[in-house]
Amino acid sequence: MSDFHETTDAGAKETGRRRFFQSLASLGSSAVTGLAGLKILQNTPVEAAEPPPPLAEATGNLLIRMQQDLERTLASGKTPNWLMVVDTRKCIGCDACTIACRAENPTGPAGNFRRVLKLDLPISARPWAIYKPANCLQCDDPPCARAVPQGMIVKRPDGIVEFDYEKLKGPYARAAAQACPVKMIHVDDGRNFTEGTPRPQDYEARTFVENGKLYRRQPGANPLADTARKCTFCSHLLEVGVLPACVTTCIGGAMYFGDAADAGSLINEITEGRRVFKGHEYLGLKPRVIYFTESMSDTPHIECVACHS
Ligand code: SF4
Ligand code: SF4
Repeated sequence: MSDFHETTDAGAKETGRRRFFQSLASLGSSAVTGLAGLKILQNTPVEAAEPPPPLAEATGNLLIRMQQDLERTLASGKTPNWLMVVDTRKCIGCDACTIACRAENPTGPAGNFRRVLKLDLPISARPWAIYKPANCLQCDDPPCARAVPQGMIVKRPDGIVEFDYEKLKGPYARAAAQACPVKMIHVDDGRNFTEGTPRPQDYEARTFVENGKLYRRQPGANPLADTARKCTFCSHLLEVGVLPACVTTCIGGAMYFGDAADAGSLINEITEGRRVFKGHEYLGLKPRVIYFTESMSDTPHIECVACHS
C-alpha cells in the first residue's frame, strides 16, 4: 500500500482551512460576500509558502485499467490487499452507485450497503455542496468484530470484513450494528419493498450470493431476517473477476478499487504521494476506504482538505 499522507491531525486541518479561505479570497468579491460571518477571512495572515502543486491525474479509461488489474491479481494466485478510493472531487451525487449496490446486493426497506451523503457548505452566495459516498470501511481493526463472540465477524486475508450470517443474528446483529462508528451495518427486518402491494415484484425475491452463500428474500421466509448486513466489496463479484458494482456504475469516475499489493495497479498509481483522508482514523479503525483531499490540477485554488476534513 502506498505511503499515504494523513490529513487528520489538527495542525494539518487548520493549515488546509487557512489556504482554502485565502484561495477563496483571491477569487473575488462575489465569493467573499457569501462568506459573511466567516471572520477567518479578514484575520488570517498570508502565508509565504504555497501548497505543493496538485499531482497529475490518471489518464486513459480507468475502468478498463482497473479491470485489467483485477484480472492480473486473480491470475497471479496471490492474496490481494483490496483498497477502495473515493474521489469526492468527482462525485456528482447522482446515487447511481447506491442503486447499483441495491440491485447487486438485495436489501429491504431496513437499510442499504451504501449511501451518498450531501454536505451543504455555506461558503458562497451560490449553493455549494460536496457528496460523500460511504459504505463499510472494511476496517483492519474493526470495532464491530470486537462487539460479538469471536468468529462471527472475521477479517479475511484480502482485507474484507466478513459476517457469518448464520450466527450474526438477533442481539449479536444489533450489538455489531451499535459498535460500528460509521453506522454502516443495518439489521435486515426481512421485508421487501413491494411486499403486501397488489403486485409484489419478482426481482426482490431473486437468488443472490453474499459472503459465499446463496440467499433468496422470499416474503415470509427470508433467511436474512434479523441478520446484520453490510457492504462486502462485492466479494462474490471479485472472485469471478468483476469489479464492485459501485465502481463499475460510477458515472463520475469517482470510484477506484484494486489490489494495493500490486505495484503496477492503478490504485497504487493514484494514491502514491497523495494527501488522503481516512475517516475515523483517530479511533484506530485502519479503514480500507479512503478519500482524496488534494486539489484537482485544473482547480489548484480550491483546497479540498478545507471541507473534506
Ligand atoms: S466500517 Fe463498521 S461495519 Fe465496517 S468493518 Fe468498520 S466497524 Fe465493521
Ligand atoms: S455513482 Fe459515482 S458520481 Fe454518482 S453518487 Fe455514486 S460515487 Fe458519486
